[in-house]
Amino acid sequence: MSGETESRAVSPEAEASERAGEERLRPEKLGDFLGQEKSKEKVDVFIGAAKKRKAAADHLLLCGPPGLGKTTLARIVAAELGAELHQTSGPVLERTGDLAAMLTGLGAGDVLFIDEIHRTNRIVEEYLYSAMEDFSIDLLMGEGPSARSMKITLEPFTLIGATTRTGLLTSPLHSRFGMELRLEYYEGAEIETIIKRSARIMGVEIDAAAAARIAERSRGTPRVANRLLRRARDYALVKADGNIGEKEAAACLEMLEIDTMGLDGLDRAILEAIIVKFGGGPVGVETIAATVSEDRDTIEQVYEPFLLRCGLLEKTPRGRKATPLAYSHLGMETPSGMQKKIL
Ligand code: ADP
Repeated sequence: MSGETESRAVSPEAEASERAGEERLRPEKLGDFLGQEKSKEKVDVFIGAAKKRKAAADHLLLCGPPGLGKTTLARIVAAELGAELHQTSGPVLERTGDLAAMLTGLGAGDVLFIDEIHRTNRIVEEYLYSAMEDFSIDLLMGEGPSARSMKITLEPFTLIGATTRTGLLTSPLHSRFGMELRLEYYEGAEIETIIKRSARIMGVEIDAAAAARIAERSRGTPRVANRLLRRARDYALVKADGNIGEKEAAACLEMLEIDTMGLDGLDRAILEAIIVKFGGGPVGVETIAATVSEDRDTIEQVYEPFLLRCGLLEKTPRGRKATPLAYSHLGMETPSGMQKKIL
């Protein structure tokens, strides 16, 4: 997403300050978590039921593209359950010992949040199965012929896993979650409300037209909206009186090279590569990734879902194809055969 490419180009200090800026804007209560009505209703029932049963809540899987609120929702669920939250991520759990240390540190009813759970190493993942199902793990102690297996009983806990796509999870892991919530891209009006709330917390004035401008280019993603708002605040501070009006918002978006559909440089590079280098496709994602010098996972999990959603890209069994809308958005002539097909 635009934010991710943008943050890669900045220094570690700037990245840390971006993260701190993001933390400040994170809603802490379900009431402040805007949009995602269907998921919120399910969360409400889920929390209510766990409280009534006076037992650890079922394991919960959150899925959706980056920046839509999975971490935020996991924290809210833990807070509403009155549970302590322990947070880690799939790639951090390299060895079974890392997972065992996390699990044995959990108290009764605690929440363990594993971000990017699909990236957990397979051997470590297998230990999660019994932990989730029976609240126990069999640890192998020692090495070679003297190695012994030792059963460790855990306190009942709730695992919240986050993933960009459920298809990336192995089926034994997927089936052990009692509930799954799919976060969707936000509507423009919801993003506008999020921008206004964030501006209030940041103590910056923004008018309705400016909020609408930023919202329409935020890719339906709160993290992007908040990041663009911070850039607009900086712009207004340097170039105007500090208040964000439509003029400042528009000029800032122009400076960041974010176009009317919210596409950034890499989105456009992907579409251009498909059209110019591969005759509009179909072309494999690996080839696209190599052409634009980006890793395949980022293309598949961050860029592609948004381009598909905008109707700029089409996924076919033989690869990705640019749609007629992609040609017109980039100001290129649509091939005649393609025009006929859409008529
Ligand atoms: P993810 O874990 O899905 O990548 P996060 O939970 O880290 O996304 O959310 C990114 C940022 O977007 C957070 O800092 C938060 O301020 C904001 N955010 C996400 N969802 C919402 C929401 N529903 N309402 C308001 N702000 C949100």
